[in-house]
Amino acid sequence: MKYIDLSFDSEPFTYKILIGKDLFNKKVFADSLKGNSVFIVSNETVAPLYLNQLKLALSDYSIFTYLLPDGEQYKSLDSWQELLNAMISVRLRRNDTIIALGGGVVGDMAGFAAACLNRGMSIIQVPTTLLSQVDSSVGGKTAVNHPLGKNLIGAFHQPSLVVTDIKTLGTLPEREFLAGISEIIKAAIISDSAFFEWLDENALHILEHDESALVTMIETSCRIKADIVAEDAKEKGIRAWLNLGHTFGHAIETCAGYGKLLHGEAVAIGICLAAKFSFGNSSLSKTDSERIVRLVQKFGLPTTIPEYLNADELTNAMRLDKKNTSESITLVLPEKVGKVMIDKSVSLSEINEFLTQAMD
Ligand code: NAD
Ligand code: MG
Repeated sequence: MKYIDLSFDSEPFTYKILIGKDLFNKKVFADSLKGNSVFIVSNETVAPLYLNQLKLALSDYSIFTYLLPDGEQYKSLDSWQELLNAMISVRLRRNDTIIALGGGVVGDMAGFAAACLNRGMSIIQVPTTLLSQVDSSVGGKTAVNHPLGKNLIGAFHQPSLVVTDIKTLGTLPEREFLAGISEIIKAAIISDSAFFEWLDENALHILEHDESALVTMIETSCRIKADIVAEDAKEKGIRAWLNLGHTFGHAIETCAGYGKLLHGEAVAIGICLAAKFSFGNSSLSKTDSERIVRLVQKFGLPTTIPEYLNADELTNAMRLDKKNTSESITLVLPEKVGKVMIDKSVSLSEINEFLTQAMD
């Protein structure tokens, strides 16, 4: 068994992120399991692929399973309530463990259940999408959506272990895989120019799912996020860097409407817009702005705003974003590849003008 053991131990939490292949075995899970029972949460797509393997690794415990229907629309308070009903009906106790097997939706739902049931239970994340392996399983944010907004109801609850088996990426649709790359490019731009170059040089290996390239990529990306989160677990300061590309991205995602663009695709466009905005209005060099757009393109991700959207509706969506005050927009902007800054006072008119030009 080959795996990378990535620990981070700044207070108030300590846990390991294991990254490798063939990790669904007894040894990997044993140390983190205390009670007699495990409760696996998965979904209808992922369970037929990986649930049996996981159950074999947990065969020393009583196993309960609960499958969610597949889709972001089931990351709701109603589905969450049903999940809790199932957990309570099998009398899950505080020292038992919840395991999330799936992408970010399963991880967020199970994580929020773990945060609340019995005032907090231990959870092991077993992320099976690239996005969940590098993003949602690291950092302890859990949430469900509300009709008035995404992720409005949730809690910070760190997992006790993250088990990332890269073999699960073998069944992931290519489009979902590429969407996960966006968050990885984002991490590189935020704080690691050497990693940015590595991504550029290794793009082909990554696209061919070369195993060692995947492990290096996921590990480096997790480390970047973990370092940021360890310094700012509750998002009071630098954790906001992780929003690079997301202010533009969220607006694009919302205006495009449900199901048109994947989150990572909207973020890819958002990253390119942040780069272009920073080149025109702030401190990024033309060379670095172009390098960023080229890398996004190299992974087959979109770099420009779809033609069916317009600058006014995007500006309005940015105004309504919960992270902004009404008069000005906060943007995370690259200063150079490997370094970002937060600009809290970008005016709406500046944004509107920029978007209008970007769509010309
Ligand atoms: P997802 O969980 O919906 O998974 C995407 C699709 O891939 C689904 O259809 C899923 O069933 C399928 N799938 C998962 N693993 C598979 C596999 N190995 N093989 C084949 N199919 C597989 O989406 P996602 O992109 O993983 O996560 C998005 C969610 O994560 C959003 O709800 C978002 O809000 C949340 N998120 C949370 C955080 C956080 O910090 N908690 C961070 C980023 C995103
Ligand atoms: Mg994101």
